[in-house]
Amino acid sequence: ASMRKAKIKRTKTVCTYCGVGCSFEVWTQDREILKIQPSEEAPVNGISTCVKGKYGWGFVNSEDRLTKPLIRRGDEFVEATWEEAIDLIAEKLGGIKKEHGPDSIGYIASSKCSNEENFLFQKFARSIMGTNNIDNCSRYCQSPATAGLLRTVGHGGDSGTMKDIVAADLVIVIGANPAESHPVLSTRVKRAHKLHGQKLIVVDLRENELAQRADVFIHPKPSTDLIWLNAVTKYILDQGWEDREFIENRVNGFEELRKSLEKFTLEYAVEKTGISMDELLTIANMIHESKGTCILWAMGITQHSGATDASTAISNLLLVTGNYGRTGTGAYPLRGHNNVQGACDFGTMPAWFPGYEAVQDPKVRERYEKAWGVSLPEDPGYNNHQMVEGIHKGTIKAMYLFGEEMALVDSNINHVHSAFEKLDFFVVQDIFFSRTAQFADVVLPAAPSLEKDGTFVNTERRIQRFHKVFEPLGEAKPDWQIFQLIANRMGANWNYNHPSEIMDEAASLAPLFAGVSYDRLEGWNSLVWPVAPDGTDTPLLYTEKFAFADGKARFVPVDWTPPVFAGEEFDLHLNNGRILEHFHEGNLTYRTEGITHKVPDLWLEVSHQLAKERNIQDGTLVGLTSPYGYVEVRAIVTDRVKGDELYLPMHSREDIEAVNKLTSSYHDLITHTPAYKEMGVKMEVIKQE
Ligand code: SF4
Repeated sequence: ASMRKAKIKRTKTVCTYCGVGCSFEVWTQDREILKIQPSEEAPVNGISTCVKGKYGWGFVNSEDRLTKPLIRRGDEFVEATWEEAIDLIAEKLGGIKKEHGPDSIGYIASSKCSNEENFLFQKFARSIMGTNNIDNCSRYCQSPATAGLLRTVGHGGDSGTMKDIVAADLVIVIGANPAESHPVLSTRVKRAHKLHGQKLIVVDLRENELAQRADVFIHPKPSTDLIWLNAVTKYILDQGWEDREFIENRVNGFEELRKSLEKFTLEYAVEKTGISMDELLTIANMIHESKGTCILWAMGITQHSGATDASTAISNLLLVTGNYGRTGTGAYPLRGHNNVQGACDFGTMPAWFPGYEAVQDPKVRERYEKAWGVSLPEDPGYNNHQMVEGIHKGTIKAMYLFGEEMALVDSNINHVHSAFEKLDFFVVQDIFFSRTAQFADVVLPAAPSLEKDGTFVNTERRIQRFHKVFEPLGEAKPDWQIFQLIANRMGANWNYNHPSEIMDEAASLAPLFAGVSYDRLEGWNSLVWPVAPDGTDTPLLYTEKFAFADGKARFVPVDWTPPVFAGEEFDLHLNNGRILEHFHEGNLTYRTEGITHKVPDLWLEVSHQLAKERNIQDGTLVGLTSPYGYVEVRAIVTDRVKGDELYLPMHSREDIEAVNKLTSSYHDLITHTPAYKEMGVKMEVIKQE
């Protein structure tokens, strides 16, 4: 056989990690990844990437990759043929649907997979299986932001692009750590701050990297953001600093808002949030003096029991000050996964068809029913949280999940694990034998982005094309092909030959994507939704109209929901979040050597004050107990956290299922997003280093 190596191949792809959506070329030779080559032409990142995008691809060739379907026999998993696996799935899902009804099965979609795959999965759940019980991991993160924006301005996404953030006079970052979670975006903000005199306010429990560079760093008490947001809004009104013309012409509900803010005086905010009067006045003054303000936020706002309301308060503040619809203004909930925006956009949500059209709207349903030739369920389905509760109650009997590590990332995982154990039938489709797969009856080997074609939507609503680099490893298949096999085995007649055909169907059905086609996404081209039929896209939203029938935005009055209180004995506040090198639960980055050897372990950040009180040094092993679980972890002492607040990175490994053993099942009252950030724990020293 020839020893000659294949030619070097260059393929454009989009990063598989965070929602910034960097694109670059992958240089490969056979299955070897030689390098990641960014390009001036990449619309989001140009020549920048971060450590994950540049070095985080080793998992693709990991020995841990699933290459064959697996079927559970007792406690064992045995390899099976695709035919056996598909037969079994069709028979079991069909049988359970028949016996217990379509709503006895839940479907969990993937924010790591393509728009086309998410579209097809919701089509499968709705049109073949007859249920709206479908959700994705935005339920764990930005659903409250989506809901807060949907009800105030009408679209559940960022209102502009990175360009607009860079153009702002003032950027306010609340409860987010972009330097580690959205590195390339953060670089842009740092540059604008340094070179163009952009002002930066960071509000966070933890003095993260961006906070250290900010003009103003504010550290409120946990779970009190809505209060200072409302108080600053009220103060701006009291000073007569609101944008009167903007409000009169473009927003409904001003009087109701003004009334609802009565109790949110600065004095009240000082008392409740611990922010000083001076700091509050500084924030208000800086917003007043700025010609354009952007607010960026993430899980520090959204993972609370009052999260949708806090997101709404952000939007109200932007509306009061006329900070929508011009470059350098707007609302930017930062999306976590590379395609969490797309998973939502393309309809893997219990109440929405693709493009955020309600399943309850008979006109919309009729459009889909006509196209798909079936009648569709009318009532919104269960979200992730309700599915877990449904299993415990016995109403959910089976689940089909792909590309999602629910057994580690959901809150209160002991409760989730005991639910999974009760399922009559569980299909898990992934590239690895994940923690979730351990509960499955059938495990299907899927293909990562480098092994297929498709599109992702980044945090800016930008749709970008990624191209196949390799053939799938072993017998792995792209997720869309697997859905098609199962659907057809259950009596459908789907004939998609390429993801472009799935996108064509989505574009023909969802007005938000009317002009999206693969032709228009060739090379480095991208489209920011909404995309009109002629292909005109909309990087900056709300320049003339908000996305409601009358074209006007809506003030929505919101009140404060106090955080869940675990009880006196749980005397420390546990916060959690990301670090730069690892991604979420770590299934990808822990399998990427270049990254793991740099950051192999997990640690708990402890403040100097607490370390002194409890006799803790770097390396001390501590035990953390919450009402829901117990974990042991080594401490590091740092001035990033203050007082009684602890910080634990959320990345877990097989052997350290850390943070979500501790978190509760409490959640945002509107969207059911877990209140991961409202966590009381007690801490004991187990062993000094
Ligand atoms: Fe990938 Fe995000 Fe890093 Fe860009 S910033 S390279 S999208 S992880």
